Amino acid sequence: MAIIQCPSCNKRVSSRAEVCPYCDFQLAGRSPDELEQAQQRALQRRKEKLLGQSMLALLVAIGGFAYSFLEQPHPESWQAAVSYGAMALGLVWFIVNRVRILMVKRSR
Ligand SMILES: [Zn+2]
Repeated sequence: MAIIQCPSCNKRVSSRAEVCPYCDFQLAGRSPDELEQAQQRALQRRKEKLLGQSMLALLVAIGGFAYSFLEQPHPESWQAAVSYGAMALGLVWFIVNRVRILMVKRSR
């Protein structure tokens, strides 16, 4: 019995499984072309999700920056802590997402 990767969700499943136990993707009776297409679609979906997340992360960072720039909160106030936190969190989140997108691209 061999272990293959489900083309839809990328989890490891038995090559004997007719349906992926994780995402219910039909595995049996598919041509290699169909499996390839399903994998492409799944990759595309994952990339779009990550892109959406990195845009959100950028918005969080910009929001934090804009607030501290426009409102100029006192450096020791909680408003300043929140806006700096949002900037740092947004930037780190953004970078993490870019790396994950690169890894999705390289996995082909
Ligand atoms: Zn699956």
